[in-house]
Amino acid sequence: MNATQVLVLNSGSSSLKYQLLDMPAGRRLATGLVERIGEDGPGRLVHTPAGTNGDGDGDSGRRERELPLPDHAAALRAAGEELAADGLGLDSPELAAIGHRVVHGGRTFTEPTVVDERVLAEIERLVPLAPLHNPANLAGIRTALAINPDVPQVAVFDTAFHTTIPDHAACYAIDAEVAAEHRIRRYGFHGTSHAFVSRRTAELLGRRPEEVNVITLHLGNGASAAAVAGGRCVDTSMGLTPLQGLVMGTRSGDIDPAVVFHLSRVAGMSVAEIDELLNSRSGLRGLCGDNDMREVVRRMDAGDTRARLAFDVYIHRLRSYLGAYVAVLGRVDAVAFTAGVGENATRVRTAAVAGLDALGLAIDERLNTAAVRGPRLISPEYARVAVAVVPTDEELEIATQAFALVNA
Ligand code: AMP
Repeated sequence: MNATQVLVLNSGSSSLKYQLLDMPAGRRLATGLVERIGEDGPGRLVHTPAGTNGDGDGDSGRRERELPLPDHAAALRAAGEELAADGLGLDSPELAAIGHRVVHGGRTFTEPTVVDERVLAEIERLVPLAPLHNPANLAGIRTALAINPDVPQVAVFDTAFHTTIPDHAACYAIDAEVAAEHRIRRYGFHGTSHAFVSRRTAELLGRRPEEVNVITLHLGNGASAAAVAGGRCVDTSMGLTPLQGLVMGTRSGDIDPAVVFHLSRVAGMSVAEIDELLNSRSGLRGLCGDNDMREVVRRMDAGDTRARLAFDVYIHRLRSYLGAYVAVLGRVDAVAFTAGVGENATRVRTAAVAGLDALGLAIDERLNTAAVRGPRLISPEYARVAVAVVPTDEELEIATQAFALVNA
């Protein structure tokens, strides 16, 4: 019998998220989160076996414990113990692959890739482009390799879906030699989500991905838009780093780069301080103090003017990208909202397309506000462009890609 399980690992600097899925159906067998790895004090592990719903909606089987977690190896071993307690396991013959989310694949990795020494070295070489993320991803891969060297480890890159973006959209208009030497160009992120959502949107329309042009709006705490033509990404809002583009929970998105020089000269801020300002104290939080869209909308409805401005700035930027990508694509078949804000914030969806009838965009408020989960259309039947809500599932996409690769 062929092995059918895929363990998906998403390693952050101090956390490890994992999901065990049975493929090809994508059924979740267990999910978990290990936090506070390598920090002072005990770490924490939450494990949820199947039957309790991997989304955390269920309850009974959920297990939680505190334990010493000096490093990622300890975290993965602890996750392995929890899986073993459910009769699953890191060394189970059922395990077909371990799929790793890797944030930056540069221009090298255009597809999911089985990890070997050469691949590890290349991910290492890309560390300067993602100094926080790639080292954590590498730690996860190395740990998994040490624990189970026999099962294929597949790296799935956040940037891969965007490697089809043509040069005229990916190049910044700066000195070409400087750009080449330092690998400065638009890479884009959230690619696994944009790939998954654009394909699901085509399915929702009853068409093949090659037949449709889709604008995907991944609006979570981080946020990005992508223009997808016939299944291939042709533009995206994030750039060299995930700081560019839309207004996010705590990140500024687009600003005049001269703001950085200005803050340095006039405010005497260091590069590290400006980095922290733009990544952690900007976006919705910078504008109004809250980075959670639920709170922003609640305060706005209570008459809070700062929250109102934050919402309006967020929406203005979103609409600017929507309009830009209509121009990039020429013909648009669908706009898809996804991630925490995109899937849940009805008000954001309404405001994003309000008054855009001339572009063929409209929303049916009854459909928009219906308490329905799962992929769905929220545009009226007459609308030229379908507007959809498509829940993203990056773990399922990573498992799907990893499983396909090891069975190819
Ligand atoms: P994500 O990064 O995809 O997990 O999205 C997290 C963000 O989604 C949160 O910070 C909230 O701003 C937003 N969010 C989650 N649930 C809701 C909701 N019901 N309404 C509005 N925003 C939501």
